[in-house]
Amino acid sequence: MPGFELFGDAERESVKDVLDNGVLMRYGFDGMRNGHWKAKELEAQLCKTFNTKHVQLVSSGTAAVSVALAAAGIGTGDEVIMPTFTFVASFEAIMMLGAIPILVDIDSTLTLDPKAVNAAITPKTKAVMAVQMCGSMANMDALKSICNAHNLVFVEDACQAIGGSYKGQPLGSIADVGCFSFDFVKTMTCGEGGAVITNNKEFYTNADYYSDHGHDHIGNDRGAESHPFLGYNFRISELHAAVGLAQAKRLPEFLAIQRKNFDIIRNELAKIPEVEFRTVPDGGVESCAFLNFFLPTAEISQNVSKAFKENGIDVCWNYYENNWHYVRKWHHLKEAKSLYPLSSEIKSALDTLKTKDFSQSDYFISRNISCLIKLSWTEDEVKARAFKMRACIEEALK
Ligand SMILES: *Cc1c(COP(=O)(O)O)cnc(C)c1O
Repeated sequence: MPGFELFGDAERESVKDVLDNGVLMRYGFDGMRNGHWKAKELEAQLCKTFNTKHVQLVSSGTAAVSVALAAAGIGTGDEVIMPTFTFVASFEAIMMLGAIPILVDIDSTLTLDPKAVNAAITPKTKAVMAVQMCGSMANMDALKSICNAHNLVFVEDACQAIGGSYKGQPLGSIADVGCFSFDFVKTMTCGEGGAVITNNKEFYTNADYYSDHGHDHIGNDRGAESHPFLGYNFRISELHAAVGLAQAKRLPEFLAIQRKNFDIIRNELAKIPEVEFRTVPDGGVESCAFLNFFLPTAEISQNVSKAFKENGIDVCWNYYENNWHYVRKWHHLKEAKSLYPLSSEIKSALDTLKTKDFSQSDYFISRNISCLIKLSWTEDEVKARAFKMRACIEEALK
């Protein structure tokens, strides 16, 4: 994944360009900026990357998810279905709007199980949020038909899956609205940043205004703009956009390296009959940001994790005990530890998480190992790593 591994002259030049020009803000100052519009340029570039009509850059991936939901009209008391395995940003972004996160099981794709989504729908459900975790995806056709049948907004968090695709369409562009993060550890980075992408003109306009205090961005006099509705500040700066613009141009190169490294390791581990790779839905192509596989039992998976550590195989995780990505250790969420009062509806929804049966998610997460695919490894390093990983797994299976 991390684009920062290959950070270099192009990024430095791009930032210097902004600093030399002196306008660090993405809107206004038309007379001063001498044609420098890094955020606008990056948005145009990403429209091409994602083959999508509209891209709105924002300040982070978390902001992107919250802005996407707000743009679709999700707010107080609305239920949003999300997976048990994701990043904490998912429930943060939902709760920021006063909406209620409804957590449901994942399946062997490591993403939303459509059956679990169906079972969780109530009259208050307003949206389904698929999170394309670790570079792969949910069964998007199945989720889309559930959303259509129940008139729900379909949101796609593709923060970890830039470069993946489903039936020929880039991940992030398949649902009604998609979200990306360009934080420091994502495949492409702005330092901090994110994007909302959509083909829906109304959602785009809402995201555009909402992420800049409700400014309507009509004309070229910021002082004279009106506020059709309330908003906040989730703007990206020109400095961050400048980094992203340089990285976006290098994205095809990053993705090719990622795929090559992924294939070397995958082909080596495929020689072990007990290794079962995550399910990729029909028509899906992973981004290869991570390689994910299951071992026969939770115990074997823990032993392999331990052996990896002892043998210097870093950046591989078993998420069962992880407190950023899996529901089991989200104690602050289950106990509703908020700095400010939460609605009684949110509190009671969070309270149910203490006892809710997530044994299906446990079954997959406890047997899973997820390995980050780095961009800076040499071919020899990747091959040596693949051999070592295979040896560790074979030893643990004895
Ligand atoms: C990184 C990430 C986010 C949040 O992005 P930030 O830019 O760090 O706020 C949201 N969802 C997923 C799946 C992520 O991996």
